[in-house]
Amino acid sequence: MAQTMKAMVYRGENDIRVEDREVPRILEPTDAIIRMTKTTICGTDLGIWKGKNPEIAEVAQRKMGRFDGRILGHEGIGIVEETGPAVKHFKKGDKVIISCISRCGTCENCQKQLYAHCRNNGGWIMGYMIDGTQAEFVRTPFADTSLYLLPSELNEDVAVLLSDALPTAHEIGVQNGNIKPGDTVAIIGAGPVGMSCVLTAQLYSPSQIIVVDMDPHRLAMAKEVGATDLVNSANEDAIARILALTNGRGVDCAIEAVGVEPTWNICQHVVKEGGHLANVGVHGKPVTFALEKLWIKNLTITTGLVNANTTGMLMKTCCSGHLPMDKLATHHFRFSEIEKAYNVFKHAADEKAMKVIVDFGA
Ligand SMILES: [Zn+2]
Ligand SMILES: [Zn+2]
Repeated sequence: MAQTMKAMVYRGENDIRVEDREVPRILEPTDAIIRMTKTTICGTDLGIWKGKNPEIAEVAQRKMGRFDGRILGHEGIGIVEETGPAVKHFKKGDKVIISCISRCGTCENCQKQLYAHCRNNGGWIMGYMIDGTQAEFVRTPFADTSLYLLPSELNEDVAVLLSDALPTAHEIGVQNGNIKPGDTVAIIGAGPVGMSCVLTAQLYSPSQIIVVDMDPHRLAMAKEVGATDLVNSANEDAIARILALTNGRGVDCAIEAVGVEPTWNICQHVVKEGGHLANVGVHGKPVTFALEKLWIKNLTITTGLVNANTTGMLMKTCCSGHLPMDKLATHHFRFSEIEKAYNVFKHAADEKAMKVIVDFGA
């Protein structure tokens, strides 16, 4: 009989539960099986829970004729339990960081470092198209190119943030936003990714980082990690405030880190000519694009899914102490309490939660 494990499983809209599942096995020679030590919950997982991704069941139905639920999660660290015969760089017992992006490394898109869109059934698949990391064990495809050896000096809560939140903020927010020394920056939304934008933006020495949110607790944390100006959009007009804070000029770079119309709107009305608007938020609905005002401004507007091509660099920066990410790990739970962890993360503002770390114990 196959061994079983506990896992957090998505069954359908508003239906997630802890279930006993079979421990995953090696399916491809490039796979590894990881025994999880820490995982976390992403805004994307909440979106799946709320029913934003019906394609999860649809694709399974189409491919296998049935949907048996999907183990959630695309973030975390663990210990290599087993490796496929083609895995060269990892062995049983290695402590690793699991990237949210699985990449073959050889397809047309991987050769362009567009790993998010790996054409060999890679990209963002864990906790989405295949079972994910919110379980005692996970199968990670393309282990050699998708895992990172966890440095012993790295804080393990910070290591968990290297799976997704930190590279997403850095690549899709800060790098796409082309932040340069002296720039003025507005970051709209101070959740875990927005907060990681505040931190990684400082690697490029902007002169001003304006952070907009409706939650005074999140704004206070933004200030602690380096924001120069705070705007509470619950009780002030964010567009007018940002223009006032920049002598009426607007910012060089606006980062949208929420994924709803009001925050998109702030961004598109505060970028100055020649500037960048980097959308990071995951949008569930269309937004209005004020092209009649924007066409003349020589803007660059970017979107994207993380490629995780800067994960290694960010890992070294975290080890050096230049990214105090540990402040973001506000709550800790045992894996047996993962349902509670979901509820706390769902009500993040009331709970003063940023990232909830879920620990599997020794
Ligand atoms: Zn995520
Ligand atoms: Zn590929």
